Amino acid sequence: MNCKLIDVFYRKCDNIKILKQAVRKNCGIVMEFKKRNTNTMRTRGHHKQVLLFLIAVVLPSSVLIVLTWHMIGQQQELSEKRLADERLRLATEIGQKLLVHLEEIKLHEVSATASGAKSLNTLEYTSGEVILTGLADGERLLLPWEMSPTNNRLSMGKTAFFQKIRRAEEEEFVRRRYAQADTLYLEGIEEAQQPSQQAYARLLRARVLTKSDELEESLAEYRRILAVSSEITDEHGIGFCLYAAGHLLERGDSYNEVMQLIRSELSAQRWLSPAESYIVLDLVNVLIKSGPEFGIRQQAAEDCQRKILKHISRQEKALALQKDFGKLALTAQLKSPEQEPESTWAAYGEEPWLVSLAPALPGGQRLAIIVRGESILDSITSSTPYSETILANVRFTTGAGVEGESLGPSFPGLKLAYATDGKASLLSDWGPQRSFYLIALLLVLCVTLFGAYFLWRDVGRELQMAEMRSQFIASVSHELKTPLTAIRIFAETLLLGRPEDPQAKSEYLDTIVNESHRLTRLLNNVLDFSKIEKGNRTYRKEPACLSEVVNAAAQATQYPLRQQGFHLNVHMEGELPEVRVDRDAIEQAIQNLLSNAMKYSGESREIDLRVQKRDGQAVIEVTDQGIGIDAAQQKRIFEKFYRVPSEENERIPGTGLGLALIFHIVQAHGGHIEVQSIIGKGSTFSIYLPLENKR
Ligand code: ADP
Repeated sequence: MNCKLIDVFYRKCDNIKILKQAVRKNCGIVMEFKKRNTNTMRTRGHHKQVLLFLIAVVLPSSVLIVLTWHMIGQQQELSEKRLADERLRLATEIGQKLLVHLEEIKLHEVSATASGAKSLNTLEYTSGEVILTGLADGERLLLPWEMSPTNNRLSMGKTAFFQKIRRAEEEEFVRRRYAQADTLYLEGIEEAQQPSQQAYARLLRARVLTKSDELEESLAEYRRILAVSSEITDEHGIGFCLYAAGHLLERGDSYNEVMQLIRSELSAQRWLSPAESYIVLDLVNVLIKSGPEFGIRQQAAEDCQRKILKHISRQEKALALQKDFGKLALTAQLKSPEQEPESTWAAYGEEPWLVSLAPALPGGQRLAIIVRGESILDSITSSTPYSETILANVRFTTGAGVEGESLGPSFPGLKLAYATDGKASLLSDWGPQRSFYLIALLLVLCVTLFGAYFLWRDVGRELQMAEMRSQFIASVSHELKTPLTAIRIFAETLLLGRPEDPQAKSEYLDTIVNESHRLTRLLNNVLDFSKIEKGNRTYRKEPACLSEVVNAAAQATQYPLRQQGFHLNVHMEGELPEVRVDRDAIEQAIQNLLSNAMKYSGESREIDLRVQKRDGQAVIEVTDQGIGIDAAQQKRIFEKFYRVPSEENERIPGTGLGLALIFHIVQAHGGHIEVQSIIGKGSTFSIYLPLENKR
């Protein structure tokens, strides 16, 4: 700043205060510029750190994670392929075993049938896995009950017997002359030439006797029919005894006899016709309803119900098979009966039945053998020595588009489906390896995250430190610039011979002295701090009177206190014992506290300096009624370079070193420092020093 500028300042600023303000303002601009510069540098540094972090940590670990993940995927694929191969191999093996087993069954069944050892209508087969056998008549399948012998079946005709029956029915239904009808039915019974004709005539007689209210006689007739063999049937193949049983039960008669009849029918190992099955089911239902609620008889009836229902469901599936027989994958064989059938087993239905054709029987027809697929599969899988996990829940599936392994050309449309929930366990050999990879991946992730966290923390700290340092440099420069500028301006003003007033002159000189004191204090702080950092700071402790030390410090701050209009209240407790201290250091500490009290007093102009003895220690307290410190910040203000980050604080110049120095000095003296502060109300800093002589 040249003389011209000083002249302008001097002319414009009619008093010393305005001149000082101008100096401060000038330096403030410099400070602001430096701060901005520092911020830009900090941001650049920050970006660099982030980039470094990304390249050094995030990139390699991401590559590692992707590679491991890829490897896990590949391993998984490999295991799945191995599993698929294994499944295919097993399916082929099971298919071969199945074929051998089925062909054996077929052979036994054919030879038993061909030798005439068993009838086609029987339910007893050479193997428990056979469900039914039928005759393939071209593309039509003859079911067992359609092949039952017809010699005991009623055959209608125009014989004398039937003419008599016609006449009797005319009497019964047209003329309603029941007695005549009864007589004619009786004659019919006597003239009957076959058991079926006799049973038929009895049934009609029992009916007419019921109509003519001869109930006892009609019941007796029904009972007689009930005793007739179930093989004596009407023209539809239904045993007459079943009709009689229905009538008897309707009248609440012959419960036990009917039960007996049904039980023997169900255990006769003979395929009932569908009509017979439904009649038996009706009779069983009536037995259940009319019988006693509990007890053996009821149980027997329910048992019969279960049996007949099972029979009916098998029969229904057999009827459905009969309908679809031509569509089975055996068509080629069905169309050319002379050709030897291959070993083909076609699947039919949900829980598939396996259907195959045997070579021609002596009569030229082909025997169709139908077996229960699942039970054979169970017996084969249980005898196949292989991992239980693969074969658990294995089942047959049919139909196009269904997932599963083909069992070979002998089983068209039939596939082996492995349970999907077994898949995980099927991969079990890859399981431990995969767990190892996953754990390793997890470890890498954890280590990377830890590393990232520590790096991030260190970078953060470094950034914070760098920020604090640059702030410190800016603050120190500013702190130096302000008193230096003031000294120069006032000295140059005096050199120009202005002002002429001797009192003003002495005020200028006072300012120069005071600003140079301030400079010294600041430089002392910086130098001391540098010594502390290097570990060179030493203290020359000597016994001293504390009140003298405190007074000296208060005296040294008199000028700035007065200049800024502060009122310092000093309270000394009488008879303070001696303390062993480095006088200069403690004075410096008290001056720093007083200087802070002035800086952070806000509008208040009252400062208290108190010295007393408490709990066997000497306590020096500096209290202001200024801006105060937030509780969360109170712990950090003793850190080096730390300044409370508030807007208000930013406007107050400072280096963040004062309290760090006091902290070090007090600790070196075996004491400690405390702060109590309330935002907006003020702060009290207390230095505790051990007494030389604890009296
Ligand atoms: P500075 O040079 O910034 O004053 P110090 O180390 O002396 O550095 O103080 C650290 C911080 O503590 C200050 O920036 C200020 O925010 C806070 N502080 C110190 N003394 C007081 C006080 N008497 N009242 C309010 N805040 C204070």
